Amino acid sequence: MFPLILLQCEHTYEIRLDMSFADILMNNLDFSVGLAMMSAQHIVRTRFAPSPTGFLHIGGARTALFAWLYARHYGGRFLLRIEDTDRLRSTEASTNAILDALTWLGLDWDEGPYFQARRVEIHRAMVKKLLAEGKAYYCVCTPGELEEKRKRALTEGRKPKYDGTCRDKNLPWSADAAVRFRTSQAGVTVVNDLVKGVITFSNEELDDLIIQRRDGYPTYNFAVVVDDADMGITHVIRGDDHVNNTPRQILLYEGLGFAVPQFGHVSMIMGSDKTRLSKRHGATSVMAYRDMGYLPEALVNYLVRLGWSHGDQEIFSLSELIRIFTLDSVGKSAAVFNPEKLLWLNQYYMKERPTGHLVQEMMPFWRNLGFDTGDRDFLGHVVSDLKSRAKTLVELAEASTFYFNDDIVYDREASDTFLNADAAEHLAALAEKIPSLGDYTRKGIETFLRTVTAQRGTNLKVIAQPLRVALTGKTVSPGIDEVMITLGKERVVKRIKKAIEFAKSKN
Ligand code: GLU
Repeated sequence: MFPLILLQCEHTYEIRLDMSFADILMNNLDFSVGLAMMSAQHIVRTRFAPSPTGFLHIGGARTALFAWLYARHYGGRFLLRIEDTDRLRSTEASTNAILDALTWLGLDWDEGPYFQARRVEIHRAMVKKLLAEGKAYYCVCTPGELEEKRKRALTEGRKPKYDGTCRDKNLPWSADAAVRFRTSQAGVTVVNDLVKGVITFSNEELDDLIIQRRDGYPTYNFAVVVDDADMGITHVIRGDDHVNNTPRQILLYEGLGFAVPQFGHVSMIMGSDKTRLSKRHGATSVMAYRDMGYLPEALVNYLVRLGWSHGDQEIFSLSELIRIFTLDSVGKSAAVFNPEKLLWLNQYYMKERPTGHLVQEMMPFWRNLGFDTGDRDFLGHVVSDLKSRAKTLVELAEASTFYFNDDIVYDREASDTFLNADAAEHLAALAEKIPSLGDYTRKGIETFLRTVTAQRGTNLKVIAQPLRVALTGKTVSPGIDEVMITLGKERVVKRIKKAIEFAKSKN
């Protein structure tokens, strides 16, 4: 769905709800007769416009989340546009990685993905329109000349800026001509930013921007304006590394006769040392967090709090976020990435997750360790024994190792302390009685262990710790009753017998 387009043809106006610039181009309609575009103001349309030159970064994901939430909060539309005009650095693998990461986070898009590189004809048509209206001009200054002037300006202590050599020459098209936008040097351009407030730029600071390079391809600032206008974007929510591009883009909107959208620039994310978040601070790719065993809702909950707040509240479900998220509570200052808090949230969401769902999430991690994942019922028991004890899915997978393999490897200290001749006798008594134990429930097992303890005239720990080491190899584990139920009588007896052998072999 594209925005309203008002097309003026021979003194009649036609309001089209269904046309994009692409349609107009294909139908050979003439822009120069006057094309005005009116975004349907009541419909919020946001977008995420990543350049596919790498994986989806934590910062990009946070920007996408804010734009997504904004659209969802206002019942609007969220678009995805892949800005692949840098033909050397853009790859299909990166595009797929970005789509996968957004999907994993649950950030669904209503339109797209649009590919900017496929829209070059539309960009070129808009360049032509500006040329025809005298708002743009051909420039034949060579990169060498421009570089020399730039250096000279720097040595003379001036800010480098295009000196307007070709501005008034009215040069015709030539194969190596770039196109520049004639930027008014007078006055100021005001950005009323939804996050940062009013920012005023002096137009004097702005160059006659190149909008089409010598190779015939549009520059970022031009393509982004044409595409955002064509796609009816009403709110451009993006990282504040683009804030200095915004006045140039506003002038382009005005030059092209398009309604200027609203802008919201969100501050960057920093590491604990207050420098821009990078690999030095740990993983920065969204998918690396998936592979480290984080749940998407933990990451989403974590990301939303990087720069946005709602009182002291820390835990938010997605539906709650959609209800309460606005840009009003997005802070101006940079947010600091705190891995411990993310871990804490992940642990919270793991505990909250229904066991069956968590089993599903665990599958790739178990398979990765080569474990047999055939018995769902057993896996459900493993997860419920461990889910409150692990902070990530990877931790849970590693902690579950002893459930999958009856050939328990005993911790050295645990077996030295607990698998001895006395323990072997207690364990033998257990192994003898367990097969006929009627009430094999947590309660029944507890009563059974107490009874055996009393019969053998000792205390519970003397029985329970060797049993724990026999079953898990360790002195710390989930409740011994839970472990016994998960393993089942047969495997419990098998492990006890093995531990008895081991204890005896030590003498
Ligand atoms: N493609 C640009 C980037 O990845 C974003 C452009 C924008 O949001 O305006 O930085």
